[in-house]
Amino acid sequence: MTLTACSPKSEDDGLAVRLAGVRAMVNHAATAAGRDPAGVRVLLATKTVGADRVLAVLRAGWTLIGENRVQEVLAKAPELEEARLAGVPHELHFIGHLQSNKVNQVLPRLTCLQTLDSAELADRLDRRLAALDRTLDVMVQVNVSGEASKSGVDPEAALDLVGAVAARSRLRVTGLMTIGLNSPDRGAVRAGYARLAQLREQVLAQRLAGPGPIELSMGMSGDYADAITEGATMVRLGSAVFGARPAR
Ligand SMILES: *Cc1c(COP(=O)(O)O)cnc(C)c1O
Repeated sequence: MTLTACSPKSEDDGLAVRLAGVRAMVNHAATAAGRDPAGVRVLLATKTVGADRVLAVLRAGWTLIGENRVQEVLAKAPELEEARLAGVPHELHFIGHLQSNKVNQVLPRLTCLQTLDSAELADRLDRRLAALDRTLDVMVQVNVSGEASKSGVDPEAALDLVGAVAARSRLRVTGLMTIGLNSPDRGAVRAGYARLAQLREQVLAQRLAGPGPIELSMGMSGDYADAITEGATMVRLGSAVFGARPAR
């Protein structure tokens, strides 16, 4: 390692190398599953990552980022807005649990809410969006692992919720999202992802959402390959790109 490895420039280079490596790994997983790599988008989970590094990935041409805390969205908003005005576009997806009382604050910043899991939240969003005279892309979050610690609607109730959300005039259902089972048992993790893929088939077959495609947002740094095998169209990667996060 040379001395210059500590300079900011080299740190950016390191990020560029990791970004390229991550895309190559995702492509490899898709190809191994007999899928077209173009059918898998990578969302960069930028929680705990400073605005300067987020801007570095946007400037490197990546456009899809995800945050899980309202405070962080608001903290990085000025820099992201500046970048957008300077011609560096991005899509910001919210991937954490959203409390109803934070909807008004965060809504203007979001392209998509991936964690819609109740009719109450859908109502709240729909009313607020009507007041702003705009629409919002949402994904319905499903708790496929059944773990009590996880947000998301039960798989048995997911189709009803998709239908109810799609009936709101201001919400557009663009996908299903899940956080996989946290377990070394890959078979069990995959079964959860297969369940989400099956729900997507039902949403499409029963035309429960609008005419557009329905994404499957599933898979993180530790299990993205299994999620891709089961049909993920969007994987959410954080630590694989930015390194381990500091403990909360
Ligand atoms: C943090 C986070 C990720 C990314 O996790 P890594 O294991 O770091 O890749 C994905 N999805 C959600 C909802 C997250 O909060």
